[in-house]
Parts: sequence; structure tokens; C-alpha cells
Amino acid sequence: MNDLTPPPPALGCRTSPVLKQRGQREVFCGLTGIIWLHRKIQDAFFLVVGSRTCAHLLQSAAGVMIFAEPRFGTAILEEGDLAGLNDAHKELDREVARLLARRPDIRQLFLVGSCPSEVIKLDLSRAAERLTIEFAPKVRVLEYSGSGIETTFTQGEDACLASMVPVLPESDARELLVVGALPDVVEDQMLGLLEAMGIGPVRVLPARNIDAEMGIGANTVFALTQPFLSDTHAALERRGARHIQAPFPLGEEGTTAWLWAVASEFGVDRALFDSVTESPRRRARQAVAAAAQTLTGKTVFFFPDSQLEIPLARFLARECGMIPLEVGSPYIHDALHGPDLDLLPANDFGGPQISEGQDVDLQLDRCRAARPDLTVCGLGLANPLEAEGLSTKWAIELVFTPVHFYEQAGDLAALFARPLRRKDILKHGESTSDPLFAEARA
Ligand code: SF4
Repeated sequence: MNDLTPPPPALGCRTSPVLKQRGQREVFCGLTGIIWLHRKIQDAFFLVVGSRTCAHLLQSAAGVMIFAEPRFGTAILEEGDLAGLNDAHKELDREVARLLARRPDIRQLFLVGSCPSEVIKLDLSRAAERLTIEFAPKVRVLEYSGSGIETTFTQGEDACLASMVPVLPESDARELLVVGALPDVVEDQMLGLLEAMGIGPVRVLPARNIDAEMGIGANTVFALTQPFLSDTHAALERRGARHIQAPFPLGEEGTTAWLWAVASEFGVDRALFDSVTESPRRRARQAVAAAAQTLTGKTVFFFPDSQLEIPLARFLARECGMIPLEVGSPYIHDALHGPDLDLLPANDFGGPQISEGQDVDLQLDRCRAARPDLTVCGLGLANPLEAEGLSTKWAIELVFTPVHFYEQAGDLAALFARPLRRKDILKHGESTSDPLFAEARA
């Protein structure tokens, strides 16, 4: 990059041995993605075909976000529905017809599968085809699985986006597709930076509505903003589109590297790139530096949850001075995670240990032995670890909070600094006048 960018480490982690484990795991299922996807895709409705458990998960996860006409719901299949699959299909058709009659604003309907055996036996792809024919062209019906047997919580978004790729129209145009659901404000910042470099037309997947969708073909190039989109990546490549490999746009360095990979693809002049990015880079560095004071020299241990773990570890190591001890990810995909692993420095302790998958008890043992300053994990593990005196950060918060690109880099660092400051307060009392302590108490 240029003089503002630190060189890559002498030894990165791309070729480090990976500890692969398969056992009991502690993660939310893919239905969780509906919580952010229903806000992003404004003409969509997510109909979960599931049990009362699925309905409860959605209601409690989305509790604060439910408004008059939510864009998700659950068609509950009871044990008795197993008596006849034909009846279950008819009941689903009736449910969909009722919903679409009541909600003419719905242009895309996602049937979302779940784990109960009665749902697994139901052929949702056949149902989606049948319903697409019935309601075309006004409504497009797609299906994907959010089942906890098949998906971790961010894989729901991957499955949803992958289901959209085959139905996008064919196009020969040379276009950039940016893939991954970002909060609108963050997406607009990203589009503004690309536009200032003269890159366009730029489309995003998921689009905010069906009319904004683009065609796809051999001249499409795409960049991912989320590291959990491996099925979508494969679906786009099957359509002939080409992936621009880059570190993920988390932190100042990741954002600059991501933007530069896209800019290089479109032949953007280095001087123009620097003039567009210089101010936001400086702001991001300053904001990160404020939180990094708390983080420098501290150790961090990642349990596998969101698949954001590798780019986050890279950010914390290189921009915040933290020492990752173990970086666990549910899945590691070289085309997606390789560029971040290249930048993640191997440290003097022979680590970090890169691990894929989970056997939760064994991993808890490793975490307890390592006694990290900060543990990033799911809600279910956080409380017991806190009770044992370890500071924790909930992985799910990192998915719900805007953290991508320059203007969010400081907030991202602060998310990790907060639990450490809170612990400091508990240890040393609240006598400090540091305003950041007031923030940590909030
Ligand atoms: S794990 Fe399965 S049953 Fe439980 S909420 Fe998720 S999809 Fe429904």
C-alpha cells in the first residue's frame, strides 16, 4: 500500500496448522439472520416453516424490533401434521395465500426451513417453485434453510443470499457487485467512497428491493463485505462472476486494503485513491488509537461463532496491539479468509492457534488454561466464563452493531475495550474521572 500502511507480518497465519474439531457446539441457528435481513430487504417477507421453538427464538431475538407489520412470521407445523405431507403442503399454500392477500407490499417471499423432522420432510424447494408459478410475476418465492442442524447464526444470511443468485437475470455488463448485508448508513458510506473514485455502476446484494437487483455474468466482479458468505461466493462463481479477494473492511487497514483491491480492479489511479481515502483513514486511526490504549498487550481468545473471528483477530492484533491466543472459526475458506490470515501475525508464543469447528468442552479447557484477558464467545458461554473471572465479549453484538469501513473503526475497537474497562472499574472502584469509564458503566 503506501507509507500509511504497515507492511504485512514476516510470518502470517495462512499456512499455520489448523486444529479441526467436530463435537458439541454452542451457537445460534441460521434463523437469527432474519433479524437483520428483514430490515435490509424492504420488500421481503421471511416465513419460517418451523416449530413453536423457532417462533419463540424469533420473537425474543427480535423483541425490541417488532412493529405494526413485521416482515417475518412463523408457519408452525405441529407433530400431527406429519400424518399427511400433502396436507402440510396444502396448509402452507393456504398460509402463503392468506399472507400475500393481506400484504400486497410483499414482492419477495422467503420460505425458511428449520430443524423439526416434520419440516425436514417437507420439500420447500418444490413448494417455492409451485408458489412462484402461482404468484408470478408479482411475488418471487425462494427458500433456504435456517436449521440449527445445518447452519450457525450467520450462515442464515449466506443461505438466503445464495438462494437469490440463481434467479438474478443474465448480464454481460462489466459491473461491481458488493455482497453482504450492511446497515444502510454504512452501505452509503462505502458507495460514496467508490463513487468518489469513479467506480461504477455498483450494485449490492442483497438489494434494498427487487427492482434494484442487477444482472450477473462473466463480466461481473464481486467483493464480499462479510466473511461468512462461502455458499454465496460459490453460487456467484457458478454464474461466471469473479471474486476480488481482499481482507475484510474491518478497521482502517482492512478497509483500505479492501478498497484498494476493488480500486485496482477498476484501474483507479493511486493518487486519486489516496486523496479520497486520506481523511477518513486518519479519522479511523485516531478513533482506534483511543480505544487501543486499553487493548494493547492484552490477550484475546475467540470461540467460533460468527465467522468474523479471523478478520477481527487481524484487526485487534495489527491495529490495537492485542495478542490473539486462539482464533476459532466455524468454517475456514481460503478464498475468503486467506488474505486476513496473511496479515494475522504469528506471535512469540507459537500462536495464535487457528481452530475450525468446535468441541466446546475441549475448547473451554483450552480457554481456562490460557486465561485470556478477553474471550469472544456466544451468550451461552459468556456467563459461566464471567463467573470464573474472565472478561467476555458477546460475538453476536459484533454482527448487530455497525462495524465495517472507516467511520465505524473506532466503535469496533471500543466494543472490545468496554469489557476490559468494566473489569477495571470493578477492580479499582469508580473514582476515576475518565469519561470513557462513564461510557463503560453505561
Ligand atoms: S435450532 Fe432449529 S428448532 Fe431451534 S429455533 Fe433454530 S431452527 Fe428452530
